[in-house]
Amino acid sequence: MIEGKIVTIGEILVEIMATTAGNGFLEPQPLIGPFPSGAPAIFIDQVGKLGHPAGIVAAVGDDDFGTLNLERLKQDGVDVSAVAIHPGAATGSAFVRYRPDGGRAFVYNMRDSAVGRIAATPEAGTLLAAAGHLHVMGSGLPVPAIAGMVRSTLPALKARGGTVSFDPNIRREMMRDESGRAIFHSVLSVTDLFLPSGEELSLFSDEIDEAKAIAALLDAGVKEIVLKRGEAGASHFDRNGRTDMPGFVVAEVDPTGAGDCFGATFLVARRLGKSVLEALRYANAAGARTVTVQGPMEGSSSFADLDRFIAQTSVRT
Ligand code: ATP
Ligand code: MG
Repeated sequence: MIEGKIVTIGEILVEIMATTAGNGFLEPQPLIGPFPSGAPAIFIDQVGKLGHPAGIVAAVGDDDFGTLNLERLKQDGVDVSAVAIHPGAATGSAFVRYRPDGGRAFVYNMRDSAVGRIAATPEAGTLLAAAGHLHVMGSGLPVPAIAGMVRSTLPALKARGGTVSFDPNIRREMMRDESGRAIFHSVLSVTDLFLPSGEELSLFSDEIDEAKAIAALLDAGVKEIVLKRGEAGASHFDRNGRTDMPGFVVAEVDPTGAGDCFGATFLVARRLGKSVLEALRYANAAGARTVTVQGPMEGSSSFADLDRFIAQTSVRT
């Protein structure tokens, strides 16, 4: 491990939510938002909230949605010098509504928004060249400009002793074509910390069985794996064995962002020298706090917030 910023690359969005459950957006309805969002943005905001140096490569429009996000990231200590502001492009957005069965309907404005213009700018090059750690978000890898920056950053980063975390954050379809699989496997082969949730674990090997899938990943060169288990908590695996940590008991209001706040917190805690047990406890607390409030970034946490939460909240038994 070396000193330096934790850096990530990817989408900055606003999220606008329906306040009622129902069948999508086929009629006028009450909405709440805009909330700052985008998985890489949520992740890096949580890193900044914990006081660790942080930066993001991204793009927004020259509009209120972009300003809202930039102000939040800056306020939480994130370096936004590599967030390009595109006049004339709209900042990305996601409208989301829960169905009565718990499923979700989305309307995205991503590819045709500023998100689609993320590019290897000189500012991005400067930020990535000085990074101590790169967090790769799998959902961005199908975007050629993002995959290109990841590919060109990894060798030099690893050569100077930098580290890599990887949240697959993908759907099964992305693994169907050869080029999709190739980039995922090349990132995986240099991953120090892998952060899958649920069935994502099995997307990377032919193993359905959890223990066998973990063994295959460790054999492929992944140093640590933390499997996120939603309300049940999380499990850590490395060559020395396995550590389980039950989740905290909270009332879930909005699950979006839990995985990103969890991952950021585990990573920062480990970089600060905390044990696997301590890091898992902090990460579970960060994930649990996120789901108790509406808005993906509204429940991000400082270490003081997490210490208070841990002292006051019971774990699932
Ligand atoms: P996301 O929905 O953001 O992609 P994810 O699927 O990557 O999240 P989850 O397992 O849903 O990850 O959540 C990450 C962590 O947040 C969990 O491991 C747990 O610590 C915490 N968490 C999530 N949901 C709950 C909950 N309902 N109660 C308590 N803790 C939770
Ligand atoms: Mg989840």
